[in-house]
Amino acid sequence: MEFEQKFAKMLNANYAISVSNCTTALHLAYEVLDIGPGDEVICPSMSFVATVNAIRYVNAVPVFCDVKGIDDLNLDPEKIERLVTEKTKAIVVMHFAGFPCDMDSIMTIAHKYKLRVVEDACHGPLSEYKGRKLGTIGDIGCFSFFSNKNISTGEGGMMVTNDKELEKQIRLKRSHGMTTMSFQRASGHSTEYDVVALGYNYRMDDLRASLGIVQLDKLQDDLERRRNVRSWYENKLQKLSEKVVVPFQNNREFVSNYVFPIVLKDSNKQYRDDVRNKMHALGVQTSVHYPAIHRFSIYHEFAKNRNMQWTEYIADNEITLPMYANLTESNIDFIVECLQESL
Ligand SMILES: *Cc1c(COP(=O)(O)O)cnc(C)c1O
Repeated sequence: MEFEQKFAKMLNANYAISVSNCTTALHLAYEVLDIGPGDEVICPSMSFVATVNAIRYVNAVPVFCDVKGIDDLNLDPEKIERLVTEKTKAIVVMHFAGFPCDMDSIMTIAHKYKLRVVEDACHGPLSEYKGRKLGTIGDIGCFSFFSNKNISTGEGGMMVTNDKELEKQIRLKRSHGMTTMSFQRASGHSTEYDVVALGYNYRMDDLRASLGIVQLDKLQDDLERRRNVRSWYENKLQKLSEKVVVPFQNNREFVSNYVFPIVLKDSNKQYRDDVRNKMHALGVQTSVHYPAIHRFSIYHEFAKNRNMQWTEYIADNEITLPMYANLTESNIDFIVECLQESL
């Protein structure tokens, strides 16, 4: 409870409900928003696969949407609107590296067609869009506290909403659909309970919550140091601007900088992989965010006749450079030199 209250307060949200991870958060989100068999959910392919897997848990249909381009790896609202059909029930957005999606346009589309909006805000705790925290703009925001995220409890997640009825449904389904909590039963307040919904055990335990409480105190400072790391990168990468794009260059919001993505220009997958291998040989570990979800075997059938031009280019030509608060300016010099040598 303390972790939830603290999280809600930091985000200026009415309610925060802790869960076992973000995958279960996304599942619960789609369920309580009443998304079911045959309903269409417009979703990114440039995300971690859990964003879309959870759509399948409720037997809904993922409708893959392309992103804006190599300068902006988030969903393109114009392309979203073109995908809306009679069956569309919701849009799920993912704020890449903590950079906000174009939420004004997306919420306008949602209101126009009466769609629900889920924010996969795993990358963006405390990230802002026009002064509002990511995860609090749509109907439900979902966060992950897995080991590699900005906040870590090992495994863990949080759901955020401003809607009292949704909060009630989430709490119910998070714990078996039971009308009383085990804490109340154990403390003698209630020995009888009813089961009023088909629920799950998606709870977070107290041990993880206590880790989370301490992590929240460190978050702001960590993010401010990441912001410095990003600006060193931006400066030093200018000399490579003919070959390398730094996405979200024009963003001036406070963001989490969960990862630091670059995209190679006039490149292909083989070249990108060669550059990564060279960098590894020089001592710099890199990663890729992300392989496109629509190209995974189980998603081929949902991606027929879809133009996913930018998502595919990014999946083949993106490199994620090291990003964490303890990086120094000379570390960044070294990384950028290694990149230049590898190009
Ligand atoms: C990590 C992540 C998830 C899944 O979170 P878990 O807590 O590991 O289930 C979902 N979406 C995105 C964008 C993520 O980065």
